[in-house]
Amino acid sequence: MTQYVGAIDQGTTSTRFMVFDHGGNVVARHQLEHEQILPQAGWVEHNPAEIWERTRTVIKSALAGARLTAADLAAVGVTNQRETTIVWDRRTGRPYYNAIVWQDTRTDRIVGEIEKAGKGELIRERAGLPPAPYFSGGKLKWILDNVPGVREDAENGDALFGTPDTWLIWNLTGGVRGGVHVTDPTNASRTMLMDLETLDWDDELLALFDVPRAMLPRIAPSSNPEGFGTSHADGPLKGEVTIAGVLGDQQAATVGQVCFQPGEAKNTYGTGNFLMLNTGPEIVRSKHGLVTTVAYQFGDDKPVYALEGSIAVTGSAVQWLRDQLGIIAGAERVEALALQVPDNGGVYFVPAFSGLFAPYWRADARGAIVGLSRFSNNAHIARATLESICYQTRDVVEAMQQDSGVELETLRVDGGVTANELAMQIQADFLGVPVSRPVVAETTALGAAYAAGLAVGFWRNTDELVANWHEDKNWQPTMSEAARQQGYARWLKAVSRTLDWVD
Ligand code: ADP
Repeated sequence: MTQYVGAIDQGTTSTRFMVFDHGGNVVARHQLEHEQILPQAGWVEHNPAEIWERTRTVIKSALAGARLTAADLAAVGVTNQRETTIVWDRRTGRPYYNAIVWQDTRTDRIVGEIEKAGKGELIRERAGLPPAPYFSGGKLKWILDNVPGVREDAENGDALFGTPDTWLIWNLTGGVRGGVHVTDPTNASRTMLMDLETLDWDDELLALFDVPRAMLPRIAPSSNPEGFGTSHADGPLKGEVTIAGVLGDQQAATVGQVCFQPGEAKNTYGTGNFLMLNTGPEIVRSKHGLVTTVAYQFGDDKPVYALEGSIAVTGSAVQWLRDQLGIIAGAERVEALALQVPDNGGVYFVPAFSGLFAPYWRADARGAIVGLSRFSNNAHIARATLESICYQTRDVVEAMQQDSGVELETLRVDGGVTANELAMQIQADFLGVPVSRPVVAETTALGAAYAAGLAVGFWRNTDELVANWHEDKNWQPTMSEAARQQGYARWLKAVSRTLDWVD
């Protein structure tokens, strides 16, 4: 009986495999972290072979743990960290270089030169993105320009480009024995290489980054009735299952949060924060520092677009407290530490470690802790860290309201940081609107499962998915408007201190 749908969620810090039933409930899961490779300041890499190895392990363990097999799965969906760039050799299956992760800023100069040459507008117009080191195009150009032999192999069609979805599907469907080379429009919309209107690679953009078309995957609908491919029987699923859904992680969370109506928004709190607002079949160009992106494309339906506010550092600021400052033993301890003080004691922390993303897009910014006094302690810094997550979200909500004219009524939230009750209360206070968390917090994996399940008829339509959404908990704003405004004004002042830092 095929009563379930599986989802691979290849995230920035970990990879998980989850199995969902028709009600959207989790029936099996396994998750493993992978190494964060930090060769020098601003560089962030992952080992693609390790990611594939972790993927195999989590699939096998999750299935074995729940006594399931490939035959129990109607389909599998894939969701992934977006923008992260991998190039590998189709003949050997070996990557030419580590994956260059979305947070990596080494392509500052490549992007700066494009802007200087007056070509930034082309990227904004055609791809909907502000030129930034964040997106894949510059990372791919860096590999082509700096790793010996890649450009030649790329011209010959032997070097393949992919984001982690593409890399995993190629391996799952056979790898060197004939793997499928494919992606979906949500991932492709993050490369600066795809035309937002045609949903195809754009020759002018390819020329701008000097990328040979032969190395690019085919772009197929996110929920794909024809299937992206079939898992190879010798692979971790140990059987043939249709891979029928692919969505970038934030788009997957949008689907998992069932934001199918224009005006509906969700905010995911993970390594970074990503707020996404469904704008329907319309491409809304941002005037306030948001990104225009594809939310999803289901089968033959028109693509649905979104405005997105991407924030680079939120949950990873908590990791920084743990790993670099050593003031907490684990991320979950930050709440208790922050609760030792009633407020931030005047301390503001702007974690602009890799510049600032939305709505500022300032690669020249670097982090700052301001307002310190002799009275300040670890607890204030912990509190300021949680507040930074919520203030950065407010920055993006402000931009979203200005761009769309839609007043936010409730913020649907998910992701690792939403386990932090204090942070969620602070968020409701800073926004002045309720914050609502669903029962199934794993909205990213759920969204990928939904895309796959819709494609094969496991779910008949999105109404069935909407019926699966249930609230777990909500937080109501309690702060006075005066205090809210005063705190936010201070935050903006703190942000101004971080700009123009890098020459
Ligand atoms: P991703 O999918 O980006 O890997 P997750 O959704 O798994 O991220 O969330 C992990 C992030 O959440 C980490 O950066 C971690 O520091 C943060 N985090 C986890 N638990 C807490 C908590 N209780 N309070 C604050 N941050 C937390």
